[in-house]
Amino acid sequence: MTENIVDLESAKAQQRGKRRVCPTCGAPSEAKYQPFCSVRCCQLDLGHWLNEDYRVPVTDFDDMSEVLLEDKS
Ligand SMILES: [Zn+2]
Repeated sequence: MTENIVDLESAKAQQRGKRRVCPTCGAPSEAKYQPFCSVRCCQLDLGHWLNEDYRVPVTDFDDMSEVLLEDKS
């Protein structure tokens, strides 16, 4: 059953020239950074998962302070 699905997916991949897109920004992925287009997108995706796991919004800290400032004014 699953073999048919795999064949279909591989056929689609061949039709599209095995081009994959970066799951972070949608740009064509680089073989060097697969499945991402750059190390930056790789780190962004990794950071997303880390945030999901540990719930420590390191990158959102500045955004949060900005929101608080806007809330006060
Ligand atoms: Zn990207």
